[in-house]
Amino acid sequence: MTKQIPSSSASNGLSRRGIPLLRPTRRTLLTGTTAAVSMALISRYGRASQSGTPFTLGVASGAPTSDGVVLWTRLAPEPLAPDGSGGITEAALVTWEIAADEAMRQVVQRGTVEADRRLAHSVHVEVAGLQPNRPYWYRFIALGAESPIGRTRTAPAATDNVDHLRFAFASCSHYELGYFSAYRHMAADDPDLVLFLGDYIYEYTVSQEYADRTVRKHDGPTAVDLVGYRNRYALHRTDPDLQTLHAAAPCLVTWDDHEVENDYANEWSQVVATTPEAFLRRRAAAYQAYYEHMPLRARSLPHGSTLRLHDRIRFGNLVTFSVLDGRQYRSQQPCARPDTRRGYVAPDSCTERVDENRTLLGFEQERWLFDGFKTADTAWNVLAQNQLIAQLRQKGADGVVGHWTEGWDGYAAGRRRMLEAIDQTRLTNPVFIGGDIHSFWATDLKADLGDPTSKTIATEFVGTSITSDGPPYQRFMEMLPENPHVRFFDSRQRGYVRVDLTRRRMETSFLVISDRRDPKATVSTMKRFVVENGKPGGVAD
Ligand code: FE
Ligand code: CA
Repeated sequence: MTKQIPSSSASNGLSRRGIPLLRPTRRTLLTGTTAAVSMALISRYGRASQSGTPFTLGVASGAPTSDGVVLWTRLAPEPLAPDGSGGITEAALVTWEIAADEAMRQVVQRGTVEADRRLAHSVHVEVAGLQPNRPYWYRFIALGAESPIGRTRTAPAATDNVDHLRFAFASCSHYELGYFSAYRHMAADDPDLVLFLGDYIYEYTVSQEYADRTVRKHDGPTAVDLVGYRNRYALHRTDPDLQTLHAAAPCLVTWDDHEVENDYANEWSQVVATTPEAFLRRRAAAYQAYYEHMPLRARSLPHGSTLRLHDRIRFGNLVTFSVLDGRQYRSQQPCARPDTRRGYVAPDSCTERVDENRTLLGFEQERWLFDGFKTADTAWNVLAQNQLIAQLRQKGADGVVGHWTEGWDGYAAGRRRMLEAIDQTRLTNPVFIGGDIHSFWATDLKADLGDPTSKTIATEFVGTSITSDGPPYQRFMEMLPENPHVRFFDSRQRGYVRVDLTRRRMETSFLVISDRRDPKATVSTMKRFVVENGKPGGVAD
């Protein structure tokens, strides 16, 4: 079976570039059963707002399985209402519909759910009973308005032969530093799946410090509470390019630090004076807002300051995605300085960095991950997470040579355990994808990280930022001779990564936009790599 069913090709008007029906629409006159259902709901619940559509934040879908997907929206007639309510306080009924065709004529399932203020009027519908490996279209109806129509896709059945999967991944979209043209171009690539690998929002506000560099402003100061985080997500979701992307394909999501606070680890703030108790209160608010705005399953409903994010999603016999949580369970950063817990380049005298008792994923998640390796039976295994995996001997801004403390280099034993588990279970074609470092990387992950001649266990591709500043190019280039396992590095441009995966090979493209300050920025390919089945290591083609 191929990925495309006949009706999803050009014959139905869907082209690789043209993703139709994404503009928010508001129709007060509905037709047929839909109208009957809606009018009944309106009379029972009333209208929360006369100001316009409640679907200002668009629609999204995620966590696709072979028979279902999560459909998401949030009612927010005033998306940036200062009280974080989205401009709606009463409970409202929301009808959802999923159809086999883009015109929504062949509705295959329909239902009604209640949205209320406890979760900011967000809606997470876990649809089941769909057919595998095909596109579906969906929309919501509430408060007399229809949402834009989104397109999603189910995964192939577990045993299906899958010829081809296209996925794209992104990280680090700082709203204030640029427009989200990269997201628009990702949508135009018509991926089957999109992965957001962290820093989907930034909690801090650049415009407070660097007004001259601000392209567009955040909605308020640094987010520290539920209202702040909610409105920060809402602001992002008003962006037309991000709405287009979410409406074009289902997504898998994980987070990095800025969904809560720069460089946080588990219960530890970067600010030494902040107690774990106080920080966990902030984390609870941030995690709740994350859940409210992402197409996550009910299993991810936050409990206090915890949220189950790590997940495993399979696409037929082709690929398994293990989505990892690199923030919630990690040990405290090694060799923290007395005045701050921010990451830094620590010299080799920091031996805590390699301490066996420390972990980035948390020991429970490690066990879950390694157990998954034992039963993995797809041709490829993609490990989707938030940071660069490869070790990197680097020079800090102060000239000190060593290793960065708040990425995998700060948790070297956990990384070694993970690579050993991959090696011991003979996991087929492992590929790590990541973000956080605002630059493109292709690396070979070696059996012995200190020995460049040892065998390559896994391949790694890290994507640059959507808009955030890249690290100093020259300083990193100067260190590359000391890091021979790094096949490619470039930090000078913003963009994303697109992958075309077949049983035989993985073709990875690093794509860059022309200018983050230009809302109409164009896209081009910076570099392309091919990994052949059975041969870890990316080769530029
Ligand atoms: Fe970032
Ligand atoms: Ca980060």
